[in-house]
Amino acid sequence: MCGIVGYIGTKKASPILINGLLKLEYRGYDSSGISTMENGYISNMKDKGRVKNLYDLPGINDLNGTIGIAHTRWATHGKPCKENSHPHMDNSNTFSVVHNGIIENYVELKQFLLDNGYHFLSETDTEIIPNLIHYYYTKNSENTDRLLNSVYLACKDLKGSYAIEVLCKEEPDYMIVARKDSPLVIGVGEQENYVCSDIPAVLSYTKNFYLLNDGDFAKLSKDDVSFYDNNLSPITKELKNIDWDVSSCEKDGYEDFMLKEIYEQPKSVRETIGSRLKKDEKINFDDIGFSKEVLQKFNRIYLVACGTAMHAGLAVKPLLEKLCHITTIVDIASEFRYREPLIDENTLCIYISQSGETADTIAALKLAKSKGATTIAVSNVIGSSITREADYTIYTHAGPEIAVASTKAYTSQITLLTLLALYFAEVLESVPVDKINNIKEELLLLPEKLTEVLKDSDRIKDFAHKVYTEKDVFFLGRGTDYTVAMEASLKLKEISYIHSEAYASGELKHGPIALIENGITVIGILTDPFLVEKSVSNLQEVITRGAKTLIITNQELNTSSYDEVINIPNTNPLISPILSIIPLQLFSYYISKEKGLDVDKPRNLAKSVTVE
Ligand code: GLU
Repeated sequence: MCGIVGYIGTKKASPILINGLLKLEYRGYDSSGISTMENGYISNMKDKGRVKNLYDLPGINDLNGTIGIAHTRWATHGKPCKENSHPHMDNSNTFSVVHNGIIENYVELKQFLLDNGYHFLSETDTEIIPNLIHYYYTKNSENTDRLLNSVYLACKDLKGSYAIEVLCKEEPDYMIVARKDSPLVIGVGEQENYVCSDIPAVLSYTKNFYLLNDGDFAKLSKDDVSFYDNNLSPITKELKNIDWDVSSCEKDGYEDFMLKEIYEQPKSVRETIGSRLKKDEKINFDDIGFSKEVLQKFNRIYLVACGTAMHAGLAVKPLLEKLCHITTIVDIASEFRYREPLIDENTLCIYISQSGETADTIAALKLAKSKGATTIAVSNVIGSSITREADYTIYTHAGPEIAVASTKAYTSQITLLTLLALYFAEVLESVPVDKINNIKEELLLLPEKLTEVLKDSDRIKDFAHKVYTEKDVFFLGRGTDYTVAMEASLKLKEISYIHSEAYASGELKHGPIALIENGITVIGILTDPFLVEKSVSNLQEVITRGAKTLIITNQELNTSSYDEVINIPNTNPLISPILSIIPLQLFSYYISKEKGLDVDKPRNLAKSVTVE
């Protein structure tokens, strides 16, 4: 779930490890720790809370080992506390292990180890791993590659997900790493190698990486890395150059990552469009390359995701239905995977995950594949787990998103899926060319229009200042505006902890209007010319009952009865969510700042949700 860093080389490991952990703080975590090894001894230091707590631990500066492992934990088994923090050691203090993920059969394995005389100091599932390795290591004394073999045998017993790093004081020149359903990559330097769960952790040291696949093992020394598959047969891997800029992982002068990422949207949307859409040319999805016959075979499309990515799916559903005339269903991944959805070889299933590591979305994808559906992954992270499972992958190319609350990934997901819908429509010839061309032209204008919307931030800040003490906020809209209302409401909950609800405006009279009372804040989104009249009437109903209103619109309206109106540029209503969400992202941001909260790391949330 959380972060892993490892180092083996000629330099003192501890500062590199702690620096790496600091770069992973954005993932959300509750404790951290490191192990380094020198003179045949493993030192293990950990604490609850922030990574900076590690700096204050007595003796941390005396760790001079040039090999070490480190972890930030997001507890799944056992409360966040020092004892449950990683690294965990075996009973004989020979092995030290950090682990991301969940060992589903840890109860049986723990019993097995207890029966064999082992005892446990923590409540975690992880602590069985070093002990299981010890169990095999003692049985394995004849084996020439004893450590690697013992880790391999231990992993064969594990059910669930893991990315692990293992140190052994008997073999001080090596580190073993392994992964299954949890990300892990190896960075290569001069006489040194790095391990991490997330590339930004070590990007300031190297740009050359090996990507591990599920079931892979690697044995690292300071000047060598050997790879093995899930049968421990040696394999080779290609070294990849990751050309992310280190500064793009840092704040670039913005107060918070979230604000930086909101302001990056003109650029990220432009990069999502990339070379897929050029003036007067057909949309390019050569990487998918569906023929008309293949597309005609699909009688249903599922868009499956969690949280903000699911809202991106909702925003795109009308496009797929209106342009391609294929029934499109948007589903929550954690629901989809357990409700036996009707899927067969005529179903196209599209899975959306910024990190590409969202456990529920990956499981939902595997389910659809097992039923013969065609699967497409939409992800922002190259080589992420979901991309290895799907039949096809398309990347949003929004750049690293660090703030827990997603902003630029959302607008890039909608942009990419809009391009995909247009591509399908072009291949299918399902609607007149004019209709497609209008949306294409509007897409190319988006970066400019996004820049324009972002200029209005002061008025949003002022409105946020007026309402930040509220207990409840309502968001209303119809059609695609309703999908934006849902995303805006989620954003507000995530980073301001204010209770909020999104309603389709027409639903008001069917219940929620009972909650409207004098002074309550209601935010209306009105961008669809066909529905604007109706939405205006719904807003009058709440104004009559004393609501304070903020309106986001691109329509000509009589605005006298609203407390604040934010005008945004006009565009095709089918892609208006990409513009209308921006003031509402800023609104949540400023409310969170007014309340003095940690915008980038909201409580209880993690950036990539790699557990169910
Ligand atoms: N399941 C392990 C624990 O609770 C690892 C959690 C994580 O991935 O951070 O300690």
